[in-house]
Amino acid sequence: MQREGADPNNMQVSDFVCDFSGDAWDGAFPMVEGHQGSLISGRCLEFAYRSVVIEGSSSLDPGSYTCTMCLETRDDPCWQSPERPEGVICRRCIRQSATKLDKDPDWDWTKPGAEPEGEPEA
Ligand SMILES: [Zn+2]
Ligand SMILES: [Zn+2]
Repeated sequence: MQREGADPNNMQVSDFVCDFSGDAWDGAFPMVEGHQGSLISGRCLEFAYRSVVIEGSSSLDPGSYTCTMCLETRDDPCWQSPERPEGVICRRCIRQSATKLDKDPDWDWTKPGAEPEGEPEA
């Protein structure tokens, strides 16, 4: 999201704020953009990925929430930020964001848990 009071014609790096932790961006940590300017930091994405993708848990009942990133009511598990309860991300967005960030050469961010990709499960 954008910081309250930010000037849309003169956006500063710190005007970009994580929807899930409220952390203002300083340009020095990864951030992934969703719809309508929603943003998730690499740190929050890691929490979300661990909780939903690796542990298979869901903060809220599927179908009962609206994802902050895609703005859809989703039938898959989600992660709700303990820091900002209005921040909810669905599993699809978690996977998409994690894949995007993992491949981004600008950031040294890898998917947590080393989920093997394209390899058969042991
Ligand atoms: Zn964050
Ligand atoms: Zn979503």
